Amino acid sequence: DTGRGTVDRLLRTLATTVFGPPAVTESNTSIESVLQEQRVFQPPAEMAAAARIGSLESYRAMAAAATKDPDGFWGEAARRELHWFEPFHTVLDWSEPPFARWFEGGTTNLSYNCLDRHLEGAKAEKTALIWEGEPGDVRRFSYRELHAEVCKAANALKAMGIGKGDLVALYMPMIPEAAIAMLACARIGAPHSVVFGGFSAEALRDRLKDGEAKAVITADGGFRKDKPVSLKPAVDAALAEGACPSVTGVLVVQRTKQPVEMVAGRDQWWHDLVDAQGSDCPAEPMASEDRLFVLYTSGSTGKPKGVVHTTAGYNLWAHLTFQWIFDIRDNDVYWCTADVGWITGHSYIVYGPLSNGATTVMYEGAPRPSKPGAFWELIQKHGITIFYTAPTAIRAFMKSGRQVPDQFDMSSLRLLGTVGEPINPEAWMWYRDVIGGNRCPIVDTWWQTETGGVMISPLPGATPTKPGSATLPLPGIQADIVDGEGNSCGPDEGGYLAVRAPWPGMMRTVHGNPQRFRESYWEHIRPADGSYLYFAGDGARRDADGYFWVMGRVDDVINVSGHRLGTMEIESALVSHPAVAEAAVVGRPDDLKGEGIVAFVTLESGRESSDDLIKQLRAHVGTEIGPIARPDEIRCSDALPKTRSGKIMRRILRALAAGQEVSGDTSTLEDRSVLDRLRA
Ligand code: ATP
Ligand code: MG
Repeated sequence: DTGRGTVDRLLRTLATTVFGPPAVTESNTSIESVLQEQRVFQPPAEMAAAARIGSLESYRAMAAAATKDPDGFWGEAARRELHWFEPFHTVLDWSEPPFARWFEGGTTNLSYNCLDRHLEGAKAEKTALIWEGEPGDVRRFSYRELHAEVCKAANALKAMGIGKGDLVALYMPMIPEAAIAMLACARIGAPHSVVFGGFSAEALRDRLKDGEAKAVITADGGFRKDKPVSLKPAVDAALAEGACPSVTGVLVVQRTKQPVEMVAGRDQWWHDLVDAQGSDCPAEPMASEDRLFVLYTSGSTGKPKGVVHTTAGYNLWAHLTFQWIFDIRDNDVYWCTADVGWITGHSYIVYGPLSNGATTVMYEGAPRPSKPGAFWELIQKHGITIFYTAPTAIRAFMKSGRQVPDQFDMSSLRLLGTVGEPINPEAWMWYRDVIGGNRCPIVDTWWQTETGGVMISPLPGATPTKPGSATLPLPGIQADIVDGEGNSCGPDEGGYLAVRAPWPGMMRTVHGNPQRFRESYWEHIRPADGSYLYFAGDGARRDADGYFWVMGRVDDVINVSGHRLGTMEIESALVSHPAVAEAAVVGRPDDLKGEGIVAFVTLESGRESSDDLIKQLRAHVGTEIGPIARPDEIRCSDALPKTRSGKIMRRILRALAAGQEVSGDTSTLEDRSVLDRLRA
């Protein structure tokens, strides 16, 4: 015994005597914060001078006005920013909470707002969409051209017998036809359900059945890592043996030219059916609360939920948030690296940018061994000015080093964004320095499938940023940190991230399960005054400046000797060590402390795991945060289990750390072999 075990035991005893026995009662709901981050970055002066919202004072004035008179604020925004066939008479009907009805009486159309209204004048010839395929093929669509393609696709859907209210599933690669199909559905009032193209036939079948889809739009395949990957066979398998009797037609885009089987009477080629249609198809006036789409959550924490969004409120929120957080300019070339299968792809590749008349870039590929610099090459090639990606991607780039991005000219960039997970301050600094040349502000945007659009984010011309903080709620969003009874927490007191008032982009229900909608989001915490509060499921704290720091999922909070610690902060301490590329921290039952901390880390390329390094890492967390947060065990692995959208699935690691079988839904796991390697 080197004595370390003894010291550990001593520390543990000390921890329990000083802090009392492990308290796991429900009333102990505050979450402690251990992250210390002091750096602040001001918005660049030129950006502030040109911005729509150009100072913290104007942001605060706007937010205060919205809080004082929400109906006035939202009503005016909806009238100003959207086209209405019929004006609405009521801004919000909240008489049956938590079921909100926005802009009642009005009729509008998302496809009209994204296309038709840009066709007058010079805007019609502006590039709406730049698409690049993995092999390097490029297609560009002006607003006029995109409008024509969408009309043809809408007419094709009608020819297939699809009408208002019929659900259409999309199972597609990242090709222009995915965006065209979404807009075509919206045009005729057929809600879409986009299923990420990386999902299996079973996952597709579950979603087709759950939504009672009437048609499926797919492709023969798409390109991934320099190889064609098939999609159509998964559709055939999902529909086999009458598993989805509601599906009557399948429309197939030819992308890879792989051989596919076409079922007579059911399957048709896009190039046969769509290309034969006329390019005139008036947009259907839709009631504000008509269903627009169903989208399933990523499944990081459990079984995916079918989130329902409706027409006008979603359109307004995607539109306004896109305009605010990117302070979009007419000459911007904007690129979001998400897949259209996620909400980020819906709101910030397709609907937000097009509703604002912006130029949006869509890329079929991803960085890969043959092209590690694929993203940076695209930025250089298309002169991209705004780049929006996920922390998981940034950490992967850090791992392979700055020599890759340094080979490209990225001076066109003016603004960077992140979404999907908390970003570790270390990764934020790297992003700012290496990708943004210390010149571009970073908007760290907190939101969810359920919220429709961004909720908490800096405004690039107004908000000083702090690495790792999503900063302040957008105007009109009454975000708060609360305890288990719904009382607001004080500065730096951790608690539950919640929203105190409805907003236009909020989800309306869980598809087919209104009870789950009530229970999961609105009845979890009931304030004493009887008001309704939206429970986001994330732990967070607010600092003395009112800045929000998301500390991870509530399910991921670890209770060490009565201290409830957010996983994200311990992970950030680990990632700040030069040897560590990525870290995931989970709790494991511990007789003495309630829970012990187990960390899974992946190392920077070229680093080897050793007892000495593990010792160093534990010591590092000890000095960065304090002994309470030192992992009891650190396991090195070459990869972490992630969802298809790139989020770490901590519930799997929790089971592994406790030596249990991994149970629950793992259908959204990206790479099952990671699980086997971790087990080994
Ligand atoms: P499921 O609900 O099925 O577990 P999911 O929560 O991963 O899946 P999404 O709606 O894609 O599904 O993700 C929303 C979650 O992502 C948020 O609740 C939050 O935990 C995390 N998140 C998103 N953006 C940020 C951000 N900027 N900072 C911190 N966390 C973020
Ligand atoms: Mg979620």
